[in-house]
Amino acid sequence: MGKRGGHNKKKDCTFWYIRYDAQSEIDEVISEQAAHEVKAGCAIQKRFSCPKCNGDVRYLYEIAPGIVCCRKCANLNYPSQQWSELEFAKYKILQILQQMDVDTWNFDNWLEVIRFKPVKPDYMSEMKFFLLDNERVKWLTVFFNCSKIE
Ligand SMILES: [Zn+2]
Repeated sequence: MGKRGGHNKKKDCTFWYIRYDAQSEIDEVISEQAAHEVKAGCAIQKRFSCPKCNGDVRYLYEIAPGIVCCRKCANLNYPSQQWSELEFAKYKILQILQQMDVDTWNFDNWLEVIRFKPVKPDYMSEMKFFLLDNERVKWLTVFFNCSKIE
């Protein structure tokens, strides 16, 4: 692990993916993948279906913007996909805004996206909006950290 935030060190943004956990409600919302319940002994656990192979998995990986699959499929099909942390952050911010019903085509530049304050759509629950907005703020932080000019 290299030092982070060093003054004249280039931030390393070579490989980046997002892991979604089927046990987490916010991960279901953000990934737009619905989890289902499976019996594990006498307990009930939540699992995702891999969009590529249909396998039951606890974790899905977003290995490139919009490409979600299980670990096995990720290794088989996308060995060399590389997206930077910054590209991912930009993509996630726009995706979350779209989930909030914001017409992202109206933005002219990233300054507008960053300054935009989303409003909860009438049909959306307070909880879902709160979770989405938290994620938006999290990705804004990643965006700012990656685009710092040194
Ligand atoms: Zn799979």
